[in-house]
Amino acid sequence: MFTSESVGQFQASLRGALVQPDDPNYNAARTIYNAMIDKRPALIAQCRDVADVISAVNFGRKEKLDIAIRSGGHHGAGLCLVDNGLVIDLSPMKGIRVDLQTKTVRVQSGCNWGDVDHATHIFGMATPTGIVSTTGVGGLALGGGVGNLTRTYGLTIDNLLEADVVLADGSFVTANEKTNSDLFWALRGGGGNFGVVTSFLFRLQPVSTVYGGPIFWELKDVGKMMRFWHDFIMEAPEHVNAYFGYHTVPPVDMFPKEHQLKKAGMIMWSITGDLSQAEAVVKPFRRLITPIIDFAGPLPFPALQAILDPLMPPGLQWYWNADFVNQLSDKAIETHLEHFAQSPTASSGMHLYPINGAAHRAGPKDTAWSYREANFAQVIVGVDPDPANKEKITTWSKTYWQAMHPHSAGGAYINMMMDEGQERVKAAYRDNYPRLAEIKKKYDPTNLFHINQNIKPAR
Ligand SMILES: Cc1cc2nc3c(=O)[nH]c(=O)nc-3n(C[C@H](O)[C@H](O)[C@H](O)COP(=O)(O)OP(=O)(O)OC[C@H]3O[C@@H](n4cnc5c(N)ncnc54)[C@H](O)[C@@H]3O)c2cc1C
Repeated sequence: MFTSESVGQFQASLRGALVQPDDPNYNAARTIYNAMIDKRPALIAQCRDVADVISAVNFGRKEKLDIAIRSGGHHGAGLCLVDNGLVIDLSPMKGIRVDLQTKTVRVQSGCNWGDVDHATHIFGMATPTGIVSTTGVGGLALGGGVGNLTRTYGLTIDNLLEADVVLADGSFVTANEKTNSDLFWALRGGGGNFGVVTSFLFRLQPVSTVYGGPIFWELKDVGKMMRFWHDFIMEAPEHVNAYFGYHTVPPVDMFPKEHQLKKAGMIMWSITGDLSQAEAVVKPFRRLITPIIDFAGPLPFPALQAILDPLMPPGLQWYWNADFVNQLSDKAIETHLEHFAQSPTASSGMHLYPINGAAHRAGPKDTAWSYREANFAQVIVGVDPDPANKEKITTWSKTYWQAMHPHSAGGAYINMMMDEGQERVKAAYRDNYPRLAEIKKKYDPTNLFHINQNIKPAR
């Protein structure tokens, strides 16, 4: 364990702050998005640059500390914190540079996706990310990245061109298709297992105004609408993105009073390309069943990315369950409805994200992300502001997931799972796990970076 002298030397080597339990900022520094997580690290190194990250990795390794890596602090399981260990907090590293010549953006890991959208939208471009603006770049990009542009331009990792990484031995490397290509392969879906990524280079796509936003239907109509949506999205052209959600209509002014607190089904649209054709895409849905709320229309892409932010503020209790899904049978839809009808709180719900279209162009062995043939990433979230409801939302989410799991493809997206053990991590990677374990052995043989969805080094 470290001494005050060794900590003093470590602190002196940093440009950023080193926060300890007696620091007035300690509670703020250990607070993350999911209020269900309450971990007490011994040290939080708020890194300002690559040199700080190298010092932190070297200190943690020499002092035999458990090390957690934090970017946006959004992972449901709180894997960016560790009790009694060292947190390498990248959130102060917020540099972004758009290169108009190469149509790329270089992003430091502490940015959130709203920062990136802001920097690129001014040039009429975007890179595919998630469905809210507050998630961190680091964790989302390394886990895969599923969102409002997936069917059009692939997963976030399909747009990753390069990463700068501090390895477990403190060395600093670049990974791309030509240099450290094995590491580059593993970083595209393998999570935080292989080193601390300090910056990412992403390809930019021509996305500016989209036809997007949510349309809601009453619960009694949701089964019919879900079937229609499923059959449509399996074959839809790639410029159409539309995920299905179960939500309780929030009791806030922007929603009509008469529908507030009703359980409902929602389709969130994100249609790119020639927007004059977008109404025609949505029309059959509006015609099939009259919606109760309809907010879909042209809007700037960053506005679509931030549309759910006010409904998902930090500081709520969250319990996540996930699976990949190949297709929805009638029985699966029936089971979904049965469980959503029992959702215990107004913020709890389910999303089914299409991951077909452009995301199917890469094969299961092309990146660490194995489930390339799956058509959907499903996530069930029990959510509530009140810690007293923790058990209630957890039990509902687990029970719902257990009922749906037989209808799934088996494994799940690592960014939408809790800390569920080795078998679930292996199920996420399937045949790619042995190769990931070999790459882990090469770049992190002692498993220094193990506070994550852990891939063990091959023996
Ligand atoms: C409200 C909400 C909405 C979400 N929506 C989506 C969505 O639309 N699409 C989607 O794909 N996911 C989504 N997610 C899940 C999201 O991808 C994960 O929560 C992800 O971990 C967020 O990244 P982060 O940097 O904020 O996480 P953190 O909690 O900071 O990090 C999570 C883990 O990633 C690893 N890690 C993070 N940064 C680095 C780094 N720089 N180097 C090495 N390892 C690192 C570490 O192991 C860390 O424990 C959502 C999450 C929330 C809470």
